[in-house]
Amino acid sequence: MRIAMIGSGYVGLVSGACLADFGHDVVCVDKAADKIEALKRGEIPIFEPGLDALVASNAKAGRLSFTTDLRGPVSEADVVFIAVGTPSRRGDGHADLSYVYGVAREIASAVKGFTVVVTKSTVPVGTGDEVERIILETNPDADVAVVSNPEFLREGAAIGDFKRPDRIVVGLEDERARETMTEVYRPLYLNQSPLLFTNRRTSELIKYAGNAFLAMKITFINEMADLCERVGADVQGVARGIGLDGRIGSKFLHAGPGYGGSCFPKDTLALVKTAQDHDSPVRLIETTVAVNDQRKRAMARKVVAACGGDVRGKTIAILGLTFKPNTDDMREAPSLSIIQALQDGGARVRAFDPEGMKAANDLLSDVTYTKDAYDCATKADVLVIVTEWDAFRALDFPRLAETMAAPVLVDLRNVYKPEEVTRHGFSYASIGRGTTR
Ligand code: NAD
Repeated sequence: MRIAMIGSGYVGLVSGACLADFGHDVVCVDKAADKIEALKRGEIPIFEPGLDALVASNAKAGRLSFTTDLRGPVSEADVVFIAVGTPSRRGDGHADLSYVYGVAREIASAVKGFTVVVTKSTVPVGTGDEVERIILETNPDADVAVVSNPEFLREGAAIGDFKRPDRIVVGLEDERARETMTEVYRPLYLNQSPLLFTNRRTSELIKYAGNAFLAMKITFINEMADLCERVGADVQGVARGIGLDGRIGSKFLHAGPGYGGSCFPKDTLALVKTAQDHDSPVRLIETTVAVNDQRKRAMARKVVAACGGDVRGKTIAILGLTFKPNTDDMREAPSLSIIQALQDGGARVRAFDPEGMKAANDLLSDVTYTKDAYDCATKADVLVIVTEWDAFRALDFPRLAETMAAPVLVDLRNVYKPEEVTRHGFSYASIGRGTTR
């Protein structure tokens, strides 16, 4: 199959490289010339484990190429994927569809012959109808089938997720696209990943419903964690106790500083807005959004409490800035709100992250970036683990105690057991582990 992938960010580049690895002929298109130039030189503009080798081997084999020109690849493609961003629209929280619609117009005037146009970007219900309308309005002769095929990969584990998905969802209105999409995903089907065909609107909603459910599950365990702290229970025991129930499942039950990232915050908000517009409010998700928003600054208050109630003039060392480990993505990372709140309280902030410091520097001010965890902890009054990178899982506590102004650790990811830390003379605060007298 000849495939054009429009948008070569986290989703487009991973999907393009994986589809090329399946044997398809893929051209990745992006309007960001610097990104495309870097890719042509063999450099990967994002951090995603394994992606450099996958891109290099498929580019070398001649199955994967890069361009800023959409017209050529689209005119030759059997399938065109739209994988551009759909961020929250400033002001109202609806998904900003201007990139998707802009690409639809460009595709319309470039396409030749029967072409399947696939929306991989996360888009609200009804967007596929509008993409189809735009294409036919721009070019009434275009022969296209517009399909919804949401992506479920997770940053940090994106290649494995793309190649071994729990399911592939394809929403279509034009039966001609069924065969094409089966062909695109044939290697996965052989791997027994179920290909779920549905109508387009159902497929669009599946993506939002899935993300909203996961966000709600995280928020649920976070509230249980707060309750655990009040009543002397342990949230990890609660999570294990409920997670072993097959009806609940153990995943997404890790209490922490609140969800962030490029998907959950914007997708939950967009679902809330869509539901309100259709007079069918999703109150559970409205509450999830509100609880999660408040949680991030509440985490800063936890740090303040660990410092004796005041952080003015104190030095706070932050370990981990990205919204989760193994990515350089800083979008909606809890660290942003936590650091802002601590700076508002008069603290000086030092930080270290294995991959996120460059992106963080564009979003934060007055933060001192450091070369590793120990450099970060130098003369600090408190050390805060915000993101659970592997590099923070076996810290040398005697060395930290020597370099810090005071041995205080706030562990917002429950990386450590309390006694592992306190036996080195540290005071230790974590999430949802209440102490009984
Ligand atoms: P991203 O910002 O990393 O990448 C989007 C890319 O599209 C950018 O490189 C941008 O330059 C390019 N672009 C924008 N307009 C263009 C145009 N007219 N022509 C060519 N290129 C254009 O975004 P992302 O994280 O890859 O997300 C893309 C979509 O996938 C979003 O809808 C997102 O919700 C969804 N999604 C993301 C993830 C994730 O983990 N990042 C997972 C599942 C779904």
